This record gives sequence, C-alpha cells and structure tokens, in this order.
Amino acid sequence: MPPTTPASLADRLLVWYDRHRRVLPWRAPPGVRPDPYHVWLSEVMLQQTTVAAVAPYFQAFVARWPTVRDLAAAPLDSVLREWAGLGYYARARNLHKCAQTVAAWRGGRFPEDEAALRKLPGVGDYTAAAIAAIAFGHRAVVMDGNVERAVARLFAVRDPLPGAKPALKRLAGELTPDVRPGDYAQALMDLGATVCTPRKPACGLCPWMADCAARAAGIAETLPAKAEKTERPTRRGVAFWAMRPDGSVLLRRRPEAGLLGGMIEIPSTPWRAEVWAPDEAAGAAPVAAEWRALPGLVRHGFTHFQLELSVMAGKVGGNAAARGLWCPLDRLGDHALPTLMRKVVRHALAKAY
Ligand code: SF4
Repeated sequence: MPPTTPASLADRLLVWYDRHRRVLPWRAPPGVRPDPYHVWLSEVMLQQTTVAAVAPYFQAFVARWPTVRDLAAAPLDSVLREWAGLGYYARARNLHKCAQTVAAWRGGRFPEDEAALRKLPGVGDYTAAAIAAIAFGHRAVVMDGNVERAVARLFAVRDPLPGAKPALKRLAGELTPDVRPGDYAQALMDLGATVCTPRKPACGLCPWMADCAARAAGIAETLPAKAEKTERPTRRGVAFWAMRPDGSVLLRRRPEAGLLGGMIEIPSTPWRAEVWAPDEAAGAAPVAAEWRALPGLVRHGFTHFQLELSVMAGKVGGNAAARGLWCPLDRLGDHALPTLMRKVVRHALAKAY
C-alpha cells in the first residue's frame, strides 16, 4: 500500500464524496456552479442549527427573495418574521444588513476571498471560509464541529476542546487540497454528519478507516474531548399577559440593543438572578391591572444563561393606558415572536382560561 499523504487522504475523501454526497436544497448538483447567495444564506442559517431544521427556512427564503438584492430590499420585519423559529435573531438582522451591503456596495455580487468576506456583517471565520471554498473554489480551511470531530479522530488528538482548536485547524489545513477545495469542504462536513458521527461512528464505511489513529486505538467515540462545562446561571423574570375585553393582548418591542433586540415580546420585567415577589413584579407591569400569577414556569435556554419566566395574567379596561401595542389573539401570528415568547403565549393560553 502506498504511504499515506495528505493528498491521498483528500483524494480518498473526494472519491467517497462523489458517491455518497448528501443532496441538500442549497447544494449545487455535480458540475454546476454554486450560487454564492445560496451558499451564504444556508451557511448563516446553519450556524448552530441542524440541516433538517434549516431546509424549510432556506426554501421559504429563496422562494420569497430569489436574489440577494431581493432580500436587501425586503423590510426587516418581514425577514425577522420569516426567520422566526430559527433562533438567534441577531443573525437575522445581520443577514439583512449583509444583503444590503452586498446589494448596495457590490451590485449584488459577493466578494470572493476570505478576508473581504469576513468584513461583511454576520460573516465570521467559518462562514467566510465556507463561502470562499464552496461558492468560489478558493482553498480555505473550513472548521466546524463536524470537521473538528473527524480531524481529532483521524490524528487521535486527545487535548480537549476548545483548547485544541488551533492544533485541529493546523492539521485540517495540512489536509486541505488545492484541487476541488469546495467539494473537499463539503465532503468533510458530510463525513462528520453521516459517518464520523458523535456517537457510534460508522468506521467501516469511512474512507479514512485504514489511517484513523483513534479507530486503531479504540477511542474514536471519546473524541474530541471536551473541557468540563461550567453550569449556566439562571435568570428569572415575570411576563405579563394583559388582556382587554375585546380579546386583544398587549405586546411590546424590545430595545434594539441587547438580547432579542428589536423583537416583539410579551412585556416582562428585567431578567435577574433573584426571584421576583408578586408585588414587586406588579410594580414593573406595563399597565395597571389585577394581576394573577399563573401556575408553572416557562423555561428557555440562552447561550449564557437559563431563563425562568413566570407569567401573570390581568384583565384591563378598554381604555387603559399601556406602553406597547394591542394585538387581537388571532393576529399574533402576524408578528415575529421569538421562540421564547411563543412559549409564553402557549403557557398563558393553557393556564389563564
Ligand atoms: Fe471517524 Fe471512524 Fe473514520 Fe476515524 S475511521 S475518521 S473515527 S469514521
């Protein structure tokens, strides 16, 4: 058997990819030039979300806004509404800003190299490398969780993440070929997603089986090692379900800066570590009412903390002065309510009546 070189590992992966590539809505068929708009849109959507979750959103976006210029011309609220459910709304706002930048400054054409791509709103190292490689065929080292896992196993890197990231990137860089870098990047993503999976990797189907150090050592499933996570702190707040006699509910827009910035919410107190006493919470309500605490809690995980919201329901008069906007119950779907707020709505509807 010839000695294993980075080139032969890349070649084997590309041969495997040509037979086993996944068919994805944003992926160009073999021999067809990828559309940079599709590559960019899918990569932004895929940040911290699964392929299965993204597919319908991607299809809805390109059906509604077939080009980056169409997306740039859309009102932000429409984009946020179409995005609702994908989470991380800062990404949707950056997506819109990026579309406007590309449309206004570059006539709708994405830049081709990583450094220029990184200057676009919401485009970090990973997304820039993915677009440069997949859309434009530039040699770029594309690192995501799937790639880190496969590379950590191939070379049996035992150092835990995130500390091992630079070493994994260097090793991945040595493997990245000059030919077909876009296909290679997608091949590695596919390998990590379908064969070199977090649990029970299918080593028998892997083009790197003969060279994989982790497999040889019988430790594949334990890699990549992860540093112990510190517990996420809990924050607490109270949401106010205010209902008028005509069946309208009070909504409010969150401040632009900060978490869920600019999104529509069921009004709530600030979120903090201490539990809110009912009287104190009522003092922070957006409208005067007889507030009644509903049983149970709404829980939601953010990246850096866990949120627990209790919900207070109140009936208010038709002319009550309130900070916010009144929305008929059956029109709630018109607003881009983030996932957390949809949980609050479900909770209130289940417990308040
Ligand atoms: Fe992953 Fe197994 Fe392939 Fe190694 S042989 S890269 S552990 S699937």
